[in-house]
Amino acid sequence: MTATRIELLINQRDAPGASYLDVIDPGRTADVVGQVAQANAAQVDEAVQAAHAAFHGWSRTPLSERIALLKTAADLLDAEGPQVAELMALESGMLIGTNKAEVGMAANIVRDNADLATDFLQPYQVEDANSWVSVEKRPMGVIAGIVSWNAPVILTMRKLAPALVCGNTIVIKPSPTAAMGISLLLKKMAALFPPGVINVVHGGAEVGNALTTHPLVRKVSFTGGGKVASSIMRAAAKSMKDVQFELGGNDPAIVLDDADLDDLMPKLVGGIFRRSGQFCFAVKRVYVPEALYDTFFERLCAEVNKFKVGHPLNPQATFGPMNNPAQWQFIQDLIARTRAAGAEVIELGEVLDPASWNDGYYLRPAVVKHADPDLEVVLTEQFGPVIPVVAYRSEDDVIRMANQTELGLGSSVWSRDTTRALAVARQLEAGMTFINQAGTSRLGQKNIPFGGVKQSGIGRESSVVGLAEYVEYHGINVHK
Ligand code: NAD
Repeated sequence: MTATRIELLINQRDAPGASYLDVIDPGRTADVVGQVAQANAAQVDEAVQAAHAAFHGWSRTPLSERIALLKTAADLLDAEGPQVAELMALESGMLIGTNKAEVGMAANIVRDNADLATDFLQPYQVEDANSWVSVEKRPMGVIAGIVSWNAPVILTMRKLAPALVCGNTIVIKPSPTAAMGISLLLKKMAALFPPGVINVVHGGAEVGNALTTHPLVRKVSFTGGGKVASSIMRAAAKSMKDVQFELGGNDPAIVLDDADLDDLMPKLVGGIFRRSGQFCFAVKRVYVPEALYDTFFERLCAEVNKFKVGHPLNPQATFGPMNNPAQWQFIQDLIARTRAAGAEVIELGEVLDPASWNDGYYLRPAVVKHADPDLEVVLTEQFGPVIPVVAYRSEDDVIRMANQTELGLGSSVWSRDTTRALAVARQLEAGMTFINQAGTSRLGQKNIPFGGVKQSGIGRESSVVGLAEYVEYHGINVHK
């Protein structure tokens, strides 16, 4: 594959970068996949100005036209997705099949927002003998969308689709380690819309900071880590911007003693190790009744051992490398600290190409046996392929342990008895609980406000609640 060069996208035109960043294949770090233009503060300003200039016309474009354009954009994603899946695999380390599925899911996110917008944007109107009141929903202006690397198309569309359908314009900043595939898709999408409605800038913290301090940006919608979110909140405070944060999780999976282990095992293992454990609502700790522990652990290890670790373009690979060296090192250090604390860490899975193991950021899926409930690997977000399995004695005990962290994104409960599982679910401090799965159904994707409580975020994405993130309310009162 020839190296791809990605420019900035401002006002529907390619703009050269102030400099260029080499993108490395995390599965073969000697290979440069391409170059991405890096913006400077003046170019961020140009992108925001373009979005600001486009806002006047776009916000007045009839809703039916905005919806139709978004539906065309969703079809475009479906059509173009397979063509960028390979590039996405090379730049991010995610398996090619995962990328194809991701673009399809992202297309559905765009359609869902388009479908929900008409009802959502209706004004609320009441009248009595003295007056008439209309509460109207108005777009906010320029939105800055800043995303992480682990699912770049889904994360971007969760911001772009509700923002645009509500009449806002947007400047997107992808992550430096997953910028290319999403940029190719955004460039094609942007051509469907009036110039300036969709703009893309690239860079790291400096470019992010130029966006989050720009006076014309009305809202920052961010997906990433908590530390960066705190700094964004401080930056945004200067010009009183609204913020919406989708941050990390430490999702507990609670296995009740009547769980159907045949049904559970592949679903749970997928929920832990998909994207090599690098996704926000991955299962990050598993709680199992003491009496069931040994059987459960043995079966879990057998299932995890089926993974084949290799390069994301290797058709046999079911488990790719870490996305970046920091993540790779962090997980290795965490495993070393877990072992040093006395816990047994078992590394599993088949290494497909041992000779090239050291050529990329590879790790094997690992399971921590008899993890102490207070271990670091239990209480912090690992965002990688090491899963602690903790024994518990009673339901009260496990609910207390599940709620003892500062994160509260997803969670799951596994039981043959839905009533019992629901009773446990309702006691969890989480934005979402999945019963007998580790994620949402198609119906859930459209209707569940995605996000977390405590330090897992502020606000929600998807559903009508996600649309509400992108409007201001304008109250009009006619006195008779
Ligand atoms: P990160 O916070 O390091 O980076 C996220 C984005 O912020 C990147 O585009 C980065 O370039 C940018 N950035 C960095 N410094 C900035 C600054 N000072 N101002 C503005 N922007 C700045 O996170 P990451 O390593 O890319 O992603 C991993 C984290 O993201 C994990 O904690 C994970 O759980 C979380 N995440 C959450 C969700 C969710 O929906 N809740 C989804 C995916 C990932």
